[in-house]
This record gives sequence, C-alpha cells and structure tokens, in this order.
Amino acid sequence: MGSGIITILIGMGWGTAFVLFDRPLLAAMHVVLIAFGVCLLWLAYQRRLKAASLLAAHFLPLFIAVSCLFDNVPEGVHRATQMHFLSVALGGYFVYRSGGIYMKYVIPALCLVGFAVFSNTSIGIHDPALVIPENVAAIGVWTNTITAVIELTFIVLIMNADLSVRRMMDVEMRKAIANGDFALHYQPQFNDAGVVVGAEALIRWPHAKMGNIPPAEFIPLAEETGLIVPIGNWVLRAACAQLAQWEVQPETRHLTMSVNVSASQFRQPDFVQGVCEIVRLSGVTPSKLKLELTESMFIDNIEATIAKMNTLRAIGILWSLDDFGTGYSSLSVLHRFPLRQIKIDKAFVRDMLTNRSNMVVTEAIITLAEKLGLQVLAEGVETPQQLDRLREAGCVMYQGYLFSPPVDIAAFGKLLTTGAGKIAEPAPAHAELQPALLRSAS
Ligand code: C2E
Ligand code: CA
Ligand code: CA
Repeated sequence: MGSGIITILIGMGWGTAFVLFDRPLLAAMHVVLIAFGVCLLWLAYQRRLKAASLLAAHFLPLFIAVSCLFDNVPEGVHRATQMHFLSVALGGYFVYRSGGIYMKYVIPALCLVGFAVFSNTSIGIHDPALVIPENVAAIGVWTNTITAVIELTFIVLIMNADLSVRRMMDVEMRKAIANGDFALHYQPQFNDAGVVVGAEALIRWPHAKMGNIPPAEFIPLAEETGLIVPIGNWVLRAACAQLAQWEVQPETRHLTMSVNVSASQFRQPDFVQGVCEIVRLSGVTPSKLKLELTESMFIDNIEATIAKMNTLRAIGILWSLDDFGTGYSSLSVLHRFPLRQIKIDKAFVRDMLTNRSNMVVTEAIITLAEKLGLQVLAEGVETPQQLDRLREAGCVMYQGYLFSPPVDIAAFGKLLTTGAGKIAEPAPAHAELQPALLRSAS
C-alpha cells in the first residue's frame, strides 16, 4: 500500500515537472509510473500481495533502466538514477528471501548489474530534445541520491526490525514446543447431504503475552528454522490421538481427520517413518487420516515425492492437495500423484460470484477432479450463494465459515451433537441442507 502511494506521488511530481519543461515523452513515462502505483494499490486492496510484489519486482528495474537512459547529466556530474537499483535489489532480496532462485537471486543480481553499468558508462539517449533538461538533471542528481539513501535506510531498518521479531518468535516457539502451549482446532467438513464427514486440524498458538498468534505468522518462520518438524510431529500426534477417540464412539466413528503437512516437513528424510510410527502408536485406521500437501511439492523432485506418497498410501493414508489453483503445478503430472482429494483454494471461492474467470477456473477444477476420479472439496465457503454455485458446478464437499469456523474440541463435539453448523442467512434454496445438517448428530 505504502509503495503504491509513494510511487504515485513520485510519478505526479516528476510528471508535472516534465510537462512544465516540455518533455512529453518523459511525462508520459511518469503517467505509466502513476498507473503502476494505482495497480499496486488495487492489488493491495484485493489482498493480492504476491501479485503486487511480482509486478513491482519486474516493473521497477525496467522503469529505472529506462529512466537512466534519459538521465543525461551535465558534463562533470555523475548520474544518480541508477542508485534506485540498489534499493530494489536489497528490497527484492528481503521480500523474496524464502522464494525461488529467480526472485531471490536473479532479479537482485540484474539490478546490481544495472547499477554497475549505468554508474560507469554514459550509455543512454543524447538527443537534447528528449532527455532531462540539464538544469533539472543537476537537481535530479541530488534528489535521486537523497531518495535512494532514504530508501536504503528504510529497508535496512525494516530488515533489522524483522530480524529482531524473528529471533524473538524463534525463542518463543521453542518455549511453546517445550511447554506444550500449542492447541488444535477443528473445522468441520460437510458432504453434499450436509453431513459432517470429517475435520481439518488447524494449529493454534495462544500466547500468554501476544494473544493468539495466527498460524500464517509462525508456520512460515517455523519452516525456515526447521522447528516445523517438532511442531508438525506434535500436530500429527495430537490429531491422531483425537481421531483414535472418535473411532471408539459410534457417532464419530465415520469422521476423517485432515492434517496439514508443510513442504520442509515432508522433505525430511525420516518423514515417512515418523508418520508410520505415529499412526501405529495411536492405533488409528490409516484411511481415516488425510494428509494435506500444497502444489509447491509437485514441482521439484517429482519422483521422490511420488515415492514417499505411495509408501504412505500403501498403508492406507489418504492424500489431499490443498490450496489447489494457487500454485504452478503442471496439470499433466497431477494424475501421477496418489491423491484422493483436491481442495479448491478459498481465493477462488471468495471471488467466483464476482469474477467470471474465477468461476471458470473453479468449474474447470471440479471437472478435472471428476475426470481424475478425485474427490473435490471447496474451502472458504462463506455464503449460501457460493454454496449454490459450487453444488451446481458438481462440488461434493465443503468447508467454510458458512458452516463453522475452526473450533476447539468441546465446541466441535457440541456442533456434532446439536448439528449447529453455523449457516449465516440460510437461503431458501438450501431448505434441504438445514435438516441434513441437523442429521449430522445422529
Ligand atoms: P489452510 O490449510 O488453507 O487452512 C484453511 C484456513 O482457512 C484456516 O486458517 C481457516 O481458519 C481458514 N478458513 C476456514 N474457513 C474459512 C472461510 O470461510 N473464509 C476464510 N476467509 N477463511 C477460512 P488458519 O487456521 O489461520 O490457518 C492458516 C494456514 O496455516 C493454513 O491454511 C495452513 O496452511 C497453515 N496451518 C494451520 N495449521 C497448520 C498445521 O498444523 N501444520 C501446518 N504445516 N500448517 C498449518
Ligand atoms: Ca489445509
Ligand atoms: Ca487451504
């Protein structure tokens, strides 16, 4: 959001200056910069931060390079526009520090090359009618140097603050593991008849001082530090212990348990052995356990991933592909993985009634799942209208706030006995779903 506003302000400032100095091409370039800033704001408003940072990582180096070509400083003065390459390189490296090689290394490296080239050569356009006027260029040298130094200072301060928070969180996580402070919540999963058929176990960290820390804040850090291994093992043990309790009660015997497995946890050499051990010790029926993987694991080391999945599938454990549609896995290899289920990501469900292409993707995922013989579950179902459209499209399982948020085990038990799947504003079209929900108790 902040970068969008700053970009728009810079675009407006320089754009106006170039209109006044009769440089229409440069003014037009800054209109493009303003449009980029507006795009960033719009993406941030849509909470599409990944798309925003991807756009910025490509557009900014390009814009800086083109600006350098037009930055024709007077004799004896060094141009300074290229200094912004340093901020983009450092900022990009910081934002994508846990990303892939291209974003983490290639783009920052290209920025550094751009910095070196434009610092040491006079490469660029030299037509006086097109480039920045000499008197403006002389001021630009100072403004560019000062703004680049301010940008770098801010990035270093943010990196430092981030490092302190991560160190503190790491210490707190280690304490939480040792003290057994984590808890599990369960979000019910419903079939097309409105019956609770299973639950997804979701970790909760109620911290004495910091309150409830959302998993999205500590799981990525745990992945980076390796703490995800003990945390993931705890989740699996706790979920299996709960599943074992459900299995001995006639009214909960049918329930399955979905457990999230993160990439670094799955890549541990002893992952398969660890899961087998936990399942064996808990005594649960392996086919009641569903392990959720994300598409990121379907890109590299495909053969090793398939082998691990097959070993656990052989003892009965089911596999589910979480957040489907958000990653970049190739559809052509999907059939090779021993999957039982695909979960449509909640981003598609959220926008499918307002965004035609999201609806098309959702329908395509459901058709694909049917063709591959996979069960399809829609996540993040929040409204009866979304439920309607999903049912029409052929979806058979649902999970979302429309039914219930993730709840502790006491509330989950109550939900099963009262059938109180939280349905906000039930639509008349679901008259049949309501009683069916109530049947989940029986
Ligand atoms: P996820 O696996 O995609 O889990 C679903 C997330 O969507 C949960 O957030 C859930 O509370 C939320 N959700 C459920 N229904 C709705 C809805 O109708 N609307 C919206 N907007 N959200 C809904 P939560 O619990 O905060 O978990 C976030 C993520 O953290 C999970 O996403 C998963 O990736 C990760 N996570 C949670 N527990 C574990 C765990 O035990 N192990 C691992 N490795 N990751 C976990
Ligand atoms: Ca999940
Ligand atoms: Ca998900």
